[in-house]
Amino acid sequence: MKHLSLLLVIVLLFSITSCGLSSSGGTSSEPPENNSTTSCSHNWRSATCTEPKICTKCDETSGTALGHTTDSGVCARCGENFSDWELGEYTDEFEQPTGKKYIITNAYGTFSNSATTNSSLYAALQIDKENIGIMLWEYQSNLVKGTFDYEYYNITIMDEAGVKYYFTGTIYKSGTRVYFEDADRNKVINLLKNNDSIKIYLKSTKYSISSYLFTVETKGFDTAYSSIQ
Ligand SMILES: [Zn+2]
Ligand SMILES: [Zn+2]
Repeated sequence: MKHLSLLLVIVLLFSITSCGLSSSGGTSSEPPENNSTTSCSHNWRSATCTEPKICTKCDETSGTALGHTTDSGVCARCGENFSDWELGEYTDEFEQPTGKKYIITNAYGTFSNSATTNSSLYAALQIDKENIGIMLWEYQSNLVKGTFDYEYYNITIMDEAGVKYYFTGTIYKSGTRVYFEDADRNKVINLLKNNDSIKIYLKSTKYSISSYLFTVETKGFDTAYSSIQ
């Protein structure tokens, strides 16, 4: 490593000298340079989303970084995903893709029940052509499943302005998602389209007293949602 560092220093010094950049600080104790006329025959590396064109020999830059092709979806150039939403596809019992697409976003939050208060929650909001479903993992690991034929949840969504909207959710026996009513679909989609984030609160109504709270970010939702239409 020591040799490598030394080599790096030599290379750097050489690069600076060969590109004609001289350190002419008045307080420098080093002797003045007298070879400032030599210039680097630049070897340009193309600009990227985040870096301008740069000479691999002397590190001189030219122009500016290209910038990503989007700030709310997947960059067409470098593939970085700036969306809070991901596109997925359901698989069958053999784990083979079914062609049925969905979009999903994840969130952390809290939950409370008779045994605990404000414990950590992991949640997901999943949307496909038919349904909007919420998955809840208590303590970030125990997926909530339906125990009875069906259980209802009171769902409250609060938008950025603090306005509350009330919905009913249903989870079916052995199911893993609390589904919104079909009639409320457009209302929920519009809340996702028109806010940078929304807060979702669920409270089970009949068999237990669990409540769940999490925030959903909506960056890239429009683009993601149009991809499943
Ligand atoms: Zn150069
Ligand atoms: Zn990019």
